[in-house]
Amino acid sequence: MNVVLEKEETDIKELVDSLHFGEKVERAKELLAWSFERFGDNAVVANSIGKDSLVVWDLAKKVNPDVRGFIVTTAYKPPETVKFMNELVAESPNLKIYKSDREVGELYKTDPDKCCQILKVEPVRRAVEEMEVECWITGLRCTEGRTRTDFKEIEQRDHGLIKLNPVLLFNEREIWQYLALYQVKVNPLYARGFRSLGCAPCTTISTGDNERAGRWLNTSKCGGECGIHTQPLKAYTNVDVDSIDEEKIHPEQVASSEIHKEDIEDR
Ligand code: SF4
Repeated sequence: MNVVLEKEETDIKELVDSLHFGEKVERAKELLAWSFERFGDNAVVANSIGKDSLVVWDLAKKVNPDVRGFIVTTAYKPPETVKFMNELVAESPNLKIYKSDREVGELYKTDPDKCCQILKVEPVRRAVEEMEVECWITGLRCTEGRTRTDFKEIEQRDHGLIKLNPVLLFNEREIWQYLALYQVKVNPLYARGFRSLGCAPCTTISTGDNERAGRWLNTSKCGGECGIHTQPLKAYTNVDVDSIDEEKIHPEQVASSEIHKEDIEDR
């Protein structure tokens, strides 16, 4: 398997511009094939049902029709998103929905970080544990926003859990190109002008360079992250969410060298 482990951030940025659409698609398939070969059923897609995840889900199914996935949803998703999610799950028996049953009221107004922690991060941790995930496959793209520039295609940010970002190099146009070419259904909210979708109270239509600018507008979290891509998901699975700030969690201290390099060829 000719999979590349990029060591320098600059390499990734160069590849975003130097590879054409077809090469990026083939590279994503190679990465996915590697993950299924290496981790089998324990390579699982974290499907946000946003446009990027839908590309990953489509590619993953082409490489491995039996691939499993999970969706994390909240009580605050727009009705269009809930309908779209239910339709997708109805036609994809291998997609499982996770949702927190904790009541948080309007915590998104006073402490959106904690709200995301409870409603998003904790259910992802539960999915990782219950589905015995060893490699979680995401729709992260390095051109998507200010918080997503330093990711790699294969990473290890917490113990015992590899993260694969097969469409990391795709830009926004190439995502739409893929969805159009392969006629992948998307959330109808995109047709209304949304570029990045999340919970209704924290998502607005935005313009400008930053695709995620409409997320958590007018808060310190604006254009940022819910936390699933910045916190450990496995090593601290049982941590009490109320004490998580005190745990001094530093994912970056988990060395990426722990990836089994014998499975990855440098090019
Ligand atoms: S996006 Fe908003 S409503 Fe949804 S979990 Fe985060 S803070 Fe809460």
